[in-house]
Amino acid sequence: MPPLQGAFLFTTTTVGSLPKPDWLAEPEKLWPAWRLEGEALQQGKRRAALEWLREQEAAGIDVVGDGEQFRIHFVHGFLESLSGIDWNRKTRMGIRNNRYEADVPTVTAPLRRMQSVHLADAQFMRAQTTRRLKVTLPGPMTICDTLADAHYGRRADLAMRFAELLNAEALELEAAGADVVQFDEPAFNVFLNEVREWGLPALERAMRGLRATTVVHVCYGYGIEANVKWKATLGDLWQQYETIFPWLNASSVRQVSLEFAGSRVPHEVLRLLPDKELLVGAIEVLPGKLETPEEVAHNILEATRHVDSARLLPCTNCGMAPLSAELARGKLRALGAGAALARSKI
Ligand code: ZN
Repeated sequence: MPPLQGAFLFTTTTVGSLPKPDWLAEPEKLWPAWRLEGEALQQGKRRAALEWLREQEAAGIDVVGDGEQFRIHFVHGFLESLSGIDWNRKTRMGIRNNRYEADVPTVTAPLRRMQSVHLADAQFMRAQTTRRLKVTLPGPMTICDTLADAHYGRRADLAMRFAELLNAEALELEAAGADVVQFDEPAFNVFLNEVREWGLPALERAMRGLRATTVVHVCYGYGIEANVKWKATLGDLWQQYETIFPWLNASSVRQVSLEFAGSRVPHEVLRLLPDKELLVGAIEVLPGKLETPEEVAHNILEATRHVDSARLLPCTNCGMAPLSAELARGKLRALGAGAALARSKI
C-alpha cells in the first residue's frame, strides 16, 4: 500500500459538503431549493464547485472535493437519477431512529441506475486540480434510513441493492480520476446491531474492486438543532464508536472518518482502529464557532496520543453544508493552518 501522507505529516481533508452560495440555493438549509434552472443551474453548480475548490487549495487542504455543490442533499442527490423511486409518493418518516422527521421518497419498483450520477461532476473536478480528489457517496445503510421502501421488504435486501448500484458508480468515478471514494454512514452510529448484520456487508459490496483509497465516514450528524438535542441525550461518554470500530478495523475499508473535536467521544476509541488511517475531526461543525489554528493544532496533537501521526489525517467532524459560507471558509483556513502548526510542533 503506497504511503498516503506524501511528503509531510497530517494530510488535510474535509468530510465533503460545503455551503451552497445563496445565488445557487437557499442558504443554511439541509434540503434547500435551487435558485436556478436548466443550463443556468448546471453552470452555477460548476462555478460554485470551482470557487470552493480554489478556497480549499488556498486554505492548504490536501485532498479536495466539490463541496457537494452538484447535489441538493448528500443522500437524495444520488437517488434522483435512479429508477424505481417514486418521488411523488412522499412518506413522512422518523429518520436516524426518529431523531428527526423528513418527507422521503418511496421505493416502489426494482432499483436501477439508468446513467452515471456524478461522473460528469468528477470529470469536471479532475480537470481543475492536480491535488488528490475525493468523491463522496451516501453509504447503503444511511440511504435505507433516508427513504421509504414499499418494494424490497427487508432493509438488508434494499441495502445490498443500493450497494451494487453504488459500486458501479464508484468504479466509474475512480476511472474518471477520483483518488479517494468516501461512503457516508452516519446511520452506523444509530443502528449498531444492524451494522454487523447487514450494514458492513453492504458497505463491502459497495467498495468491491475499488483501487482508490476508500473511506467510511461515521459521525454524530450535522451541527443542526435536532442533532445537538440528540447528542445531549447520549450521556457524558459517547460509546457508539466503541461498538463499531472493532468491526470497521476488521473490514477492508482503508480510512475511517470520525467525530473528535469538541465531542464526548472517549479519545481512547482511536486505539480500536490500529489497522486504519484515521480522518480525525479537528474542526467542529456547530454554527457560530470558528476555531483558531492553535485550537485545531491542539485537537490534532491530542489525537496523536492515541494514534500514530503517520495514520492521522486532520479533517472536519462532519459536512459543513448547513453553516454560513463565511464560517465554512474560516474553518477551511483554520484546518489548513492548524495542521501546519501541528506539523511544526511534532
Ligand atoms: Zn457526518
